[in-house]
Amino acid sequence: MTKRIFRSILLVALAVLLASLSAIMGLLYSYYTQIQQEQLKNQTLLAAQAASHEGVAYFDGLQIPDCRITWIGADGTVLYDDHMETEQMENHLEWEEIREALESGYGESARYSVTLEESYFYSAQRLPDGTVIRLSMAQNSMLNLILAMAQPICLVIALALVLSAFLASRLSRAIVKPLNELDLEDPMTNGCYGELTPLLRRLDAQQRQVRIQARDLVHRKNEFDTITASMSEGLVLLNNSCQILILNPAARRILGLSHRSVGTDILTYDKDLGFQELLLQALDGKRTETVVSLTNGEYELDASPVIHEGTVTGVVLLLFDVTEKLRSEQLRREFTANVSHELKSPLHAISGYAELMAKGIVAPEDVVPFSEKIHAEAQRMVRLVEDILHLSRLDEGVGEMSFETVDLYARAQEVVSRSVDHATAQQVTLALEGQPVKIQAIPDLVMGILGNLCDNAIKYNRPGGSVTVRVGRKDEGAYLTVEDTGIGIPPEHQARIFQRFYRVDKSHSKAVGGTGLGLSIVKHAVQILEGQIQLDSAPGKGTKVTVVFPK
Ligand code: ADP
Repeated sequence: MTKRIFRSILLVALAVLLASLSAIMGLLYSYYTQIQQEQLKNQTLLAAQAASHEGVAYFDGLQIPDCRITWIGADGTVLYDDHMETEQMENHLEWEEIREALESGYGESARYSVTLEESYFYSAQRLPDGTVIRLSMAQNSMLNLILAMAQPICLVIALALVLSAFLASRLSRAIVKPLNELDLEDPMTNGCYGELTPLLRRLDAQQRQVRIQARDLVHRKNEFDTITASMSEGLVLLNNSCQILILNPAARRILGLSHRSVGTDILTYDKDLGFQELLLQALDGKRTETVVSLTNGEYELDASPVIHEGTVTGVVLLLFDVTEKLRSEQLRREFTANVSHELKSPLHAISGYAELMAKGIVAPEDVVPFSEKIHAEAQRMVRLVEDILHLSRLDEGVGEMSFETVDLYARAQEVVSRSVDHATAQQVTLALEGQPVKIQAIPDLVMGILGNLCDNAIKYNRPGGSVTVRVGRKDEGAYLTVEDTGIGIPPEHQARIFQRFYRVDKSHSKAVGGTGLGLSIVKHAVQILEGQIQLDSAPGKGTKVTVVFPK
C-alpha cells in the first residue's frame, strides 16, 4: 500500500510539474515572441528614420544582427537588400506588410518561408518619399526556446523529482502509519481517519459477534466434554473416512486408545473386531449393532450414520458394557436348566410310584413305603421350590424388607432349638455359645443364614459329632460361627460350594435332603447385609463357617 501511495503521489507531482512547465514555456514563448516583434518594429522605425535622412548611403556597411533589411520602391521593386541581389528578387507588392505600409504607413506580418524553412517576422515602414523599409527577423521556434533552456529545465525537473520522491515517501509512510497502528482488537478506540469510522464500526460489531459466538462455542464444547466425560458408555465420532474426531474417556479406556488417537483412522487399531463390516454398513446409511469381545469384557457396538443433507458425513459409535448383562443372562439360563433338571427327578419318582399304585400292581405291604417315598420326593420338591423362591426374592433386592435391630444371639437360640430334633435324629449334639449381640439387619435374612448353616452342619456331620454355634463381637463387628465336626469339604470344592446347585457329593446331598441352594442363599443374604463370609474346612475333620456383620 505504501508503494502504491508513493507511486501515485510521485506520478501526480510529475504530472503537475510537466503541466506547469508546459504552461510556463507556452507563456514564455508568447512573451518572447511579442518582445521580438516589438524589437523589430523599433528597429524598423529607426532604420526608416535614418534612411529618410541619409538616403541610400545609410545602407552602406549597415549590419543589424539577425536582421535582414530590404528597401522597396513604391512600385514594389526591391531597391536594396542586404542578403540577396535585388535583380533576382520579385516584386514585393504582394506581401501583406508592404501593402499595409504603403496604405497606412506601417505594416507587419509573420509567415513561413519555404525557401529558408523558417518562420519570419516582417515589419515595414513607409518613408516620406513613398518607398518602404522592411526588416525581417527569424522567429525563434518553441523547440529552439526549449533547447536554449534545456539545462535549467532538466535541473528543475531533477530537483523536483528528488523533492517529490522524498515528500512522497514521507507522505505515504505518514498516511499508512496510522493504518498499521490500528488496534483491531478494539476498533472503536482508533480515531485516526474519520473515513474509516463506518468500517471500524462494522469491524467492531463483527468482532463482538465473533466473541459471542466463540464464547458460545466454548460453552457448548465444555458442556459436551462434561457430558461425554461422565458417560460410562464409550462414544466415538468418526468422519466418513473413519478418522476419529471425538473420543470420550470411556471409549479410550474400552478401546485402549489415547488422546493422540484423535485424527487417526480407527481401523488401524482394530483388525479383528468386525469394526470394518459395522462401519461400512453405517457409512452406507444403515444403523447397525453387534456384540464384540474385548480384553476387558463384552461390549455392544452401536454404529449410527450421521446424515447431513442426504449424505453420510460420519458415524457415531457407541460402546455399551454388556459383560454383566450377558453374564447374568448366562446365569439365568443355567439356573433355569438346573431348576428344571432338579424338579424332573422327584416328579419322575412321584409319577412312577403313583402310576404303580394306580394300576393296583403294588403289593399291599408296599403301599405304605411307596406312599412314604412319594411324600419324601414331594417334600424335596417343596424344599426346592421354597429355596428357589427364597433366592428369587433375594435376587429382586431388599425391596420391602427393612433393616431393624436384631439380636443375633436370640435368633441363633431360636434356630438351634428348632434344629434340636434334626440333630438328635443325626446323632449330633448341638450347642450355642456367646452373648446377646444387637445388629442392624433384616430378620428374615439373618434367619435364612442361621438356618442354612445349622442345617448343613447337622446334615454333613457324623453320628456322634457336634455342632457349635457361636455369637459374639470383635473389632470388625458382630460375628456368627457355625462349626461342626463333620465330613469337611475338600479344598478343590471350597471355592465353588457357594454357587447355585453346586454340591460336593450330589447323591449324599440328595440323601440328606439337600437342594444345592442353601449356601447360595447364605452368600446372597450376607451380601445384602454387607457382611463378610469365611469358610475353613478340612476333609474328615469338620467345617467352620464365619459370618461377620458390619458394625
Ligand atoms: P445342599 O442343599 O446340598 O446342602 P448347600 O448349598 O447348602 O447345598 O451346600 C452345597 C454343598 O456344600 C453341599 O452339597 C455339601 O456338599 C457342601 N457342604 C455344605 N456345608 C457343609 C458342611 N458343613 N460340611 C461339609 N460339606 C458341606
